[in-house]
Amino acid sequence: MGNIIDGKSIAAGVVLHICNETRSFSERTGLRPGLAVCIVGDNPASAVYVRAKEKRALEAGFTSRVIRKADCTQAELLEQIDALNEDSEIHGILVQLPLPAGFSERAVIERIAPHKDVDGFHTENSGKLSCGIDDGFVPCTPLGCLHLLRRHHASLGAKIEGKNALIIGRSNIVGKPMASLLLGENATVTIAHSRTRDLADICRASEIVVAAVGRAGYVKGDWIGEGAVVIDVGINRTAAGRLVGDVEFSGAVIRASGITPVPGGVGPMTIAMLLWNTLLSAHRSCSLAEPDLLLDC
Ligand code: NAD
Repeated sequence: MGNIIDGKSIAAGVVLHICNETRSFSERTGLRPGLAVCIVGDNPASAVYVRAKEKRALEAGFTSRVIRKADCTQAELLEQIDALNEDSEIHGILVQLPLPAGFSERAVIERIAPHKDVDGFHTENSGKLSCGIDDGFVPCTPLGCLHLLRRHHASLGAKIEGKNALIIGRSNIVGKPMASLLLGENATVTIAHSRTRDLADICRASEIVVAAVGRAGYVKGDWIGEGAVVIDVGINRTAAGRLVGDVEFSGAVIRASGITPVPGGVGPMTIAMLLWNTLLSAHRSCSLAEPDLLLDC
């Protein structure tokens, strides 16, 4: 179908661009961008995500360091972060969430030096994003969604500016930063959440819909306006073990001008943007001009 926004192949193009920029960075500086990922506990989904991040980082020519702690205290994790903050080979640090019960995720995130916080979750980086200051880091999932939206609009000769955009979900990692990014594009932004009334009507009036709820098929196909662009962030597993998004795909795809599938939509873009943020951080650490995330890469 011509209206599928193929995140998998777009992410592959972004990763290729990152590989080329990494090669040129390494030739100029003799360094590699370095990404460190800390994982605590035994969450199987987290282990899969971390392995994927490690694999992609190595493929891109980065140094990848994974610190696996089956069991540790919060104080030990903070010490580990302090060491990574000081490590000149490491440009990006992330702590895989969720952390085991008893950890303060906020305290752990705040310990990461903001200039190495490539997940963009530190309050200094979220503050910069909401103030429109562009020398911080933008969280990877919304950054990936924005790239997909920009590309899709450009391919139609259309603009995001002035569009009515609905974001369903107000989390700190997806919904809120997505709202800041779309405001930055001059869209008119509505954020819906669990207490929102008349969501179906709001959705039908929206030209861009970003669904980040975490409930399989929650957004019904007939909520999607004719020609709307739909970005489905949700990752949900059905009882039969199939991965599906938050949007009822079969009903939405016949109305939307563009829609991301699950899997193969936003997910691959998230890892690509993590590498992108780490590459930016490496450039900043050497006071080099930052590369551009080209729309046609
Ligand atoms: P979250 O649980 O932190 O937030 C969910 C949001 O949905 C909340 O703000 C809540 O108010 C809203 N919500 C809940 N019920 C609602 C309802 N009935 N109507 C309207 N809004 C409702 O989740 P999150 O971390 O933002 O993630 C959302 C989804 O995106 C999950 O499925 C998650 O797995 C997925 N996700 C995917 C990626 C990716 O790389 N593709 C990255 C992050 C999250």
